[in-house]
Amino acid sequence: MTEKIKVIEKRQLDNPLQEFQDILKEAIHVLDYPEQVFDFLKAPMRFLEVCIPIQMDNGETRMFQGYRAQHNDAAGPTKGGIRFHPDVTPEEVKALAGWMSLKCGITDLPYGGAKGGIVCDPRQMSSSELERLSRGYVRAVSQIVGPTKDIPAPDMYTNSQIMAWMLDEYDHIREFDSPGFITGKPLRLGGSKGREKATSKGVLYTLQMICDLKGIPIEGMRVIIQGFGNVGSHLALYLHEMGAKVVGIADELGGLYDPNGLDIPYLLDNRDSFGVVSNLYKDSLSNQELLEKECDVLIPAAISGVVNKDNAKRLKCEILIEAANGPTTKEAIKILDDKGIVLVPDILANSGGVIVSYFEWCQNNQGYYWTEELVDERLKEKITASFLNVYHTSQKYSVNMKVAAYIEGIRKIAEASQLRGWIR
Ligand code: GLU
Repeated sequence: MTEKIKVIEKRQLDNPLQEFQDILKEAIHVLDYPEQVFDFLKAPMRFLEVCIPIQMDNGETRMFQGYRAQHNDAAGPTKGGIRFHPDVTPEEVKALAGWMSLKCGITDLPYGGAKGGIVCDPRQMSSSELERLSRGYVRAVSQIVGPTKDIPAPDMYTNSQIMAWMLDEYDHIREFDSPGFITGKPLRLGGSKGREKATSKGVLYTLQMICDLKGIPIEGMRVIIQGFGNVGSHLALYLHEMGAKVVGIADELGGLYDPNGLDIPYLLDNRDSFGVVSNLYKDSLSNQELLEKECDVLIPAAISGVVNKDNAKRLKCEILIEAANGPTTKEAIKILDDKGIVLVPDILANSGGVIVSYFEWCQNNQGYYWTEELVDERLKEKITASFLNVYHTSQKYSVNMKVAAYIEGIRKIAEASQLRGWIR
């Protein structure tokens, strides 16, 4: 039976910055670093809040709030996406910038972390309004971004077209061609082959690593993926092709569950222009019930805070892979630890996106473009090495992989900051 889930509540972490800081503190304590390292890393080094006036199609002018947080640029220019979402807050953008710093540290990229956001509902805006907003944002933050300063990329509800408009605006302001200003661009404008699928490929490689270590074969493995956007849909297809049983899928409006495995190619062929598939079947069950269904691997690939203290004790998976940023609260992580559920953390699992963004930037700087095979091979090499470092750190300090990932990230940022004389 295929069951349909009604609505994914737009649950967010209550205070993402607090979540970031709490685990940061715990990891710094394990490392036995001085308190000043925490004081230094707990908030971004720079935060810009802007107001962007945009003329709407009906002639009215509306003001949009925008943010850019640059967490730490000791290791190199800062790097991170820009999200368009009605619930964007300064705290969320600051936390996400901190997570980007850790991600770049874990994967050994010559970057620090950043993140941007605009409070808007892109579903309610026309393409020309979105273009004006994208260009307006670049004008507003142009002083602090650039190919050797801070390099944006796509994030929630932003895509390669938005990157193209942003690049064009930046080129106009600077009066020269600077493809390395932004990543996640269309191929024709200097984008990288393999960038669009990079995050899902990265999640897949970390999944393969943890399954190998735990002795769980991919063939026949039952997986639930929450989110059927760029990451969730590609991942579902890879897993399906590898012989895994994708038993649960949720999109923005609802979800589907079939213990015998969903027909992923059918869902991909029949989804609507927003990627919605849950309306293809009529049986229903709630979003919470989907997360709590029995499976081997649960992959939240949509929004933050979906696994929390209220539902964590009822999860029935063996492994949880955080494909989204911050889908599991810190209280939930403790409960999962007690239940023996292994969590592969977001800052490792979804780092494929920024890894291939880095490859894109390298190609832009060289003016020489790689094959998709080469991109994929280097992504696999980098994320596999990062996974093993985090895994060994978790064994060495007897901590979960979340704390171990923070430890790996903090080490790199602290080392770069110390070499520059910012901390002792
Ligand atoms: N937005 C993605 C992330 O959260 C990609 C960032 C990038 O490519 O710079 O990792």
